[in-house]
Amino acid sequence: MIRIDARWALTEAGWRPHVRLHVGEDGRIVSIDDAPADPVPADPRAELRGIVRRDAAPPADASADLVVPGLPDAHCHAFQHGIAGVAERAGGHGDSFWTWRERMYASLSTLDAAGLERTATALYRRLRAAGYTSVAEFHYLHRLGGEPGRRASLATALESAQALVRAAASAGISLLLLPVLYRWGGFGRAELGPRQARFALARDDYRRLIEALLVQAADPALRGMLRIGLAPHSLRACDPEDLRWLLELREALMPDCPVHIHVSEQPAEVRDARAALGQTPIAWLCEHAAVDHRWTLVHATHATPSELREVRTRGATVCVCTTTEANLGDGFFPIEDWFAAGGRLSVGSDSNVGTDAAEELRWLEYQARLRRQARAVLVDADCPHPGTALWRRAVAGGRLSLGSDRPGLAPGAPAELLLLTNEGGLAPDDALDDFVFSRRATRLAGTVTPAGLLLQQA
Ligand SMILES: [Zn+2]
Repeated sequence: MIRIDARWALTEAGWRPHVRLHVGEDGRIVSIDDAPADPVPADPRAELRGIVRRDAAPPADASADLVVPGLPDAHCHAFQHGIAGVAERAGGHGDSFWTWRERMYASLSTLDAAGLERTATALYRRLRAAGYTSVAEFHYLHRLGGEPGRRASLATALESAQALVRAAASAGISLLLLPVLYRWGGFGRAELGPRQARFALARDDYRRLIEALLVQAADPALRGMLRIGLAPHSLRACDPEDLRWLLELREALMPDCPVHIHVSEQPAEVRDARAALGQTPIAWLCEHAAVDHRWTLVHATHATPSELREVRTRGATVCVCTTTEANLGDGFFPIEDWFAAGGRLSVGSDSNVGTDAAEELRWLEYQARLRRQARAVLVDADCPHPGTALWRRAVAGGRLSLGSDRPGLAPGAPAELLLLTNEGGLAPDDALDDFVFSRRATRLAGTVTPAGLLLQQA
C-alpha cells in the first residue's frame, strides 16, 4: 500500500484540496480521502529528498503540493528513438517524411533484440521521468537484425515483443502493446520493399502472437501493466480483406480491445486512397469498419471537416503527435475545431524526437495561437486555463486509447500519477499552466505507476 498526501489533487470531479490517497497492491487507487490538516511539509522537495536518502528501498509514502494523473502516451515507436536528433539534414533533393522514412528503415539493419531492449528501456525511463505513466507501443518491427528482404516469423515476432515487454517492466511504465498487421508496401497490394519485409507477418503467425501475448498479459503478477490491443498499420499496409480478417480476429479473441491505425498523415496517402479505394482514408474506414470509442485514429492530419464530424459522432479518439508531426513536416491537425467540438483527444511521442508529456500539450496550444493570433485558445467553458483543460482532455482520451474507461483520478482507476511541486504557492490551475508552459515554479517530483512510487532526483 502506498500513501500520498497532497495539498491539491486533480480528480475526475476537478481540483480537491488536502487529500490523502491510497494505492493498493493491485496497482489501483483504493481511496481518496480528506487528509489531516495541512499534512504537507513546508518544503516538499526536502521531504522527498529525505525519503530518498533515508532508505534505498522503494518509498511507500510521499507528500506533494499537487497530484495529477500521469499522461498516457498513446502512440510510440520505441526503436525510432535510436535516430532521434541525428536525422536532421537535407539531402540533394531536400528532405521530407519519405526521405526520413528511408533513414529510419536503414537504421534497422544493425538493430538486434538486445539493442531494441536497450533503446526501449532508456526511452521508457525517459518518458516516465517526463510525465508519461503509460505508453501504447505501435509495434511493427517483427524481425530484428539480419539482411533485408526476409520476412518475420512467429519466433522473431515473439523475440522483439518480449524485448519491449521487458523494457516497460524495467522502466515501471504501463504498456499497451499493439502488435501491428503490416502486409503490403502500398495501396492496391503493392509488393513490400526489401526493407519493409521485416514488418510482415503471416496472418496465422500474427494470430498466434496475439494469443501468446494475451496469456502473458493475464498474469496477475503484472498488475494489469501489460495490455494487448490490435493495430492495422494503415490502409496502405493493410488492404480491405486484411482489415476484415483482423476485425474478425478481434471479435473472436478480445472484442473490446483498443484498435489503433495510422490514417491521413500525408497528402500522398490521401491521394493514393482516393485512387485505390475511391474515398479518403477516414471516409472509407468509417463506411467499412465499426469505428467506435475503442478506436484511435493516429494523426488524422489531413482529415476533412465532414470526416472529423463522423469520427466525433462515433466517439473515436484522434491521437495527435505534435512534435513528430512538426519534425516530419506533416501539416497541421485542425486542433481548434476538434477541441471546440468536444472531440476525444490523446497525444503520442511517436518517433520520440520529443519525449516530454507537457511539450506535446504546449505545442498543441501554441500552433492554435499562431494560427488564430490569440492566446489561451484550447480552453473549456468551465476551465479558462489551457494547461488544465488540455491535461484533462489528454488524460481522458489517452486512457481510452489505452483501453481504460476511467478518465482520471478516482477510486478504482489505475494508479498512474504525477507528484508536482508548487514552489510559488500558485493556485492549482496556475501551477499546472506553469508546468505545461514554463516550469518556473512547478516541477515533477515523482511518479506513481502500478509498479510503485519513483521519486525524481532533485
Ligand atoms: Zn506512428
